[in-house]
Amino acid sequence: MTDTEHKSRQELVTANHILAREGVMDAFGHVSVRHPARAGHFLLSRSRAPELVQPDDILEYDAEANALDGAGQAQYIERFIHSEIYRVRPDVVAICHHHSPSVMPFSVAGVALVPVYQHGAMIGRHVPLWDSREAFGDTNMLVTNGAQGASLATALGAHWMALMRHHGATVVGTSLRELVFRSVVACKNADYQYRAMALGPVAGLTEGEIELAAKVPAAAIDRAWDLWARA
Ligand code: MN
Repeated sequence: MTDTEHKSRQELVTANHILAREGVMDAFGHVSVRHPARAGHFLLSRSRAPELVQPDDILEYDAEANALDGAGQAQYIERFIHSEIYRVRPDVVAICHHHSPSVMPFSVAGVALVPVYQHGAMIGRHVPLWDSREAFGDTNMLVTNGAQGASLATALGAHWMALMRHHGATVVGTSLRELVFRSVVACKNADYQYRAMALGPVAGLTEGEIELAAKVPAAAIDRAWDLWARA
C-alpha cells in the first residue's frame, strides 16, 4: 500500500470518529472517500458503527460497490449511494450519508433547508429532496441497489447535499475534510433554522451571501478538523 493510500485510510477513520462525536451519525450512517489511485474505486468501512471504525475495517470498493477484500464481512446495505454518486460526479472526493436528528424533521416534513448563517452557506443555495416513491414506489426506506443509488445521484445533481424523504440526507465534498466540515455545519444549520422557524418566518441568506460565505478557507476547515479530531 502506498503512503498516500495509508494516509487516506487513516483520515477516513478520523472522519468516522468526528462525524459520530459531532452527532451527525450514531450507530448508522457512513462516510467514504474516493480511492487516491483508482478513481473509479472508493474506501468505506465494513458495516460498523462509525465511532468504532478502525483502519482494519476500511475496505476498497469498485465502481459497482463490490468490496475487493471484504469476503465474509458484513457490509453497509446502502453502499450504492457512494458508488453511484462517484460515477456521475467526478468533482466529488468524499460522501457522507446520515440520519441526523437535526435534518430528519426537514426530510419528514419536506421543508426546504436554506443557509441561515455563514458556514451554513456550504449546503449551497438549493438542497433537493429525493423521494424514493417517484421511481420505486413503496420500499423498506433504504437505498439497496445501483438503480436506487443512481436515482438519488440524479436528484442530487450538481448540488452539495440532498435530503431523502422520511430517511435522512447525503452530503458530498471535493475533499474528505471539506465533506466532514460541510456535514457538521449542515446539521448546525438545520438546528438553527428549525429553532428560528419557531420564532418566525425564515428567509435565509441571499444568493450573493451564499456564494461569498460558502468559500470557507482551508485553514478554517483544518482548524475545525483539529478540534473535532482531538482524542
Ligand atoms: Mn440510510
